[in-house]
Amino acid sequence: MSDTLQIGRDGRLRHLLTMEGLPRRLLLEILDQAEGYADGGHGDKKHPLLHGKTVVNLFFEASTRTRTTFELAAKRLAADVVNLQVSASSTSKGETLLDTLKTLEAMQVDLFVIRHEASGAAHFFAQHAAPGVAILNAGDGRHAHPTQALLDMFTIRRHKPDFSKLRVAIVGDALHSRVARSDIHALRTLGTRDIRVVAPRPLVPTGIEQLGVKVFHQLEPGLDGVDVVILLRLQKERMLGAFLPSTAEFHRDFGLTRERLARLKPDVLIMHPGPINRGVEIEGDVAYGERSVILEQVAHGVAVRMAVMAMILGGEAA
Ligand code: ASP
Repeated sequence: MSDTLQIGRDGRLRHLLTMEGLPRRLLLEILDQAEGYADGGHGDKKHPLLHGKTVVNLFFEASTRTRTTFELAAKRLAADVVNLQVSASSTSKGETLLDTLKTLEAMQVDLFVIRHEASGAAHFFAQHAAPGVAILNAGDGRHAHPTQALLDMFTIRRHKPDFSKLRVAIVGDALHSRVARSDIHALRTLGTRDIRVVAPRPLVPTGIEQLGVKVFHQLEPGLDGVDVVILLRLQKERMLGAFLPSTAEFHRDFGLTRERLARLKPDVLIMHPGPINRGVEIEGDVAYGERSVILEQVAHGVAVRMAVMAMILGGEAA
């Protein structure tokens, strides 16, 4: 699902739906703008750019980090924020979504942040949104999670600014992961050539090589010489059949343990979008160990989401 819907005729960001096809110049603009908001925004947490604007967080799926950081980001830009946790029924599609959108639009909402179990839900909203109403995709099914990719790129860039030299391994359940897809697109846009997906055969999406990645079914060769390891959770809620013999077996073959970490480059970055499953894809010690930037990712989520909202709603000077 590449996208023309998200860029206006003037070349500016209108919605943020996917990393696929997002021009490099816009990606870099978001990261650069996020620098101004990171670490407390040069001492001043509040930037009243969105004063008078209304943001609705519309979450049809569970979320801790994404929802909270979107809320904080909107509040730090002085927007009014409403959080709606909607339980999604798999049978209620199409009209129900549209009705929800139109009902909320009638309350003069400027921006919707949407998470939904169906791939394409954010595009659907963007297609039907009234002119001037912006849609931010906070995760749609297995498809895309663009702000996660942006905060991942932001975090990587702070430690390793030259993306063209990076070797990046994405380890775990790539099949069900919208983060994996969005990260791959973002890394490619920034010039990374050595991107690996490391996973047991049933958890590798068919045709993923076409995105320019190499696939490994064994951890050790997959992690050989890498600068960044992005670990993924086994997304059991999206697994319809038996994808794996057991989580214990997954941990044995693919889990990042202290011993395995010790064999990697001393300056390797360990990343994870969260929520982590301790003892499955990662050991607790490694998740909070010295090579981990997992909590930095969370912190950067606020800055990056502020930058996206400011660019879409904040006008020229944003
Ligand atoms: N939080 C991420 C997402 O919403 C990753 C995950 O849930 O495992 O896609």
